[in-house]
Amino acid sequence: MQTEDVTRQAQNAGVELVEFLYVDNGGTIRGKLTHADHLASRMQGGIGLTTAMMAMNMLDQLQSVPDMGPVGEVRLMPDPDSFRVLPYQPQVASMMCDLLSLDRAPWAACPRSFLKSVVAQAESLGIRVMTTYEDEFTLARTAEDGSYVPIDTSLCFSSIGMEAGNAVAIDIMRALKAQGIEPEQYYPELGHGQHELSIAPTHPLAAADNQVRYRETVRAVAKQHGLVASFAPKPFADQAGNGAHIHFSLWSRDGSKNLLWDPTDRYKLSELGYQFAAGILRHLRGLVALTCASVNSYRRLNPRSWSSAYTVFGPDNREAAVRIASPFWGNEERSMNMELKASDASANPYLAIGAVVAAGLDGIVHGWHPGSAVEVDPDTLSEADRQRLGIVRLPASLTEALDALEADPFFRELLGDLRLRSYLAVKRSEAAAFAERDTAFELQHHFYKF
Ligand code: GLU
Ligand code: MG
Repeated sequence: MQTEDVTRQAQNAGVELVEFLYVDNGGTIRGKLTHADHLASRMQGGIGLTTAMMAMNMLDQLQSVPDMGPVGEVRLMPDPDSFRVLPYQPQVASMMCDLLSLDRAPWAACPRSFLKSVVAQAESLGIRVMTTYEDEFTLARTAEDGSYVPIDTSLCFSSIGMEAGNAVAIDIMRALKAQGIEPEQYYPELGHGQHELSIAPTHPLAAADNQVRYRETVRAVAKQHGLVASFAPKPFADQAGNGAHIHFSLWSRDGSKNLLWDPTDRYKLSELGYQFAAGILRHLRGLVALTCASVNSYRRLNPRSWSSAYTVFGPDNREAAVRIASPFWGNEERSMNMELKASDASANPYLAIGAVVAAGLDGIVHGWHPGSAVEVDPDTLSEADRQRLGIVRLPASLTEALDALEADPFFRELLGDLRLRSYLAVKRSEAAAFAERDTAFELQHHFYKF
């Protein structure tokens, strides 16, 4: 879209404010707003942002990162194609932004530009990636003492949970559709107040943008119902965690052929698919620092939680980090996809999707194979069997994940110096800050912020 098309659309819809959004290293959605009268000029010149914001953690504690101090500016530069009027607040629209240096080049710490570069790398290999997040979230009421009480204590997929969630789910789905996001299925999940609403796959940049819109939409629509919605990986210590699984498939350049599909294979998965899974698994211990990005993530990432806890892939195995999803009848080739379960919504979606795709491509470039598919819960295997099969436990804490990220040279090369350094500083500071406080503090902050 051109600037004139966007401003016309804003005018026709009666938009007064436009949010320029980005996601920081802490996974927080932040931004600035422009009055609609200035939209055209702001789309040309962007809105100024101090470089320090990328060194801010989820407690707004500024970390000391060279080149992200009190001196220095970047520009929030909105993508014209990302303009959406917010259906739940129609005087407002949102746009997703790149962070540009003053020389107009993508800033070395910009997450959205990073994802674009990974998409370009896939394209150079003749691969078109399709992907989507599959989010779970918790709906709660705020009690008088400020604590969160889930809206239902119903059973998994139970009709009592449907009755509790249907009205808000319908409004969420309408709001998603109005923003060009296609809802697929909805159901009450295992945890108290836990609900899941899946959306259709799209190109990686749109999928990451959609994840931002999805988090914004669910939170805002729930609020209109007098509820608080949370994507915290572990909203309540004794309840199921909220996953944000990443589904992906690989396509030929023209989008006509699903490159994961091989009807002659036992699991209908192509050699290219195995290689992609192998790349993800090989880098997974460091990768989770980006896909399961908060302190709270590691309360979720445990055995017997269907969140995955080992570097395993398997067909329809819900304890496998990479699940080969069985294709749908009558639509086998097109529906063939894989799912990364070691992923939650506290991640920066641009960094997470970009890193997952890049790790998979690394498997393709090297022609790696992921070993044997695992058809049992890997936690039930003996340690000796796991060793024999090359199965490794995923990190048990954010600190362990960050150590693995830092130790894997692949990520230094992939992310570049400033992006990696600032990410590590922000995330290590969160690990340190929450280590000094109790569980209630951790749960409260993650519940409210994600
Ligand atoms: N709640 C599980 C998670 O934390 C996922 C359950 C499922 O949908 O398989 O990932
Ligand atoms: Mg689920």
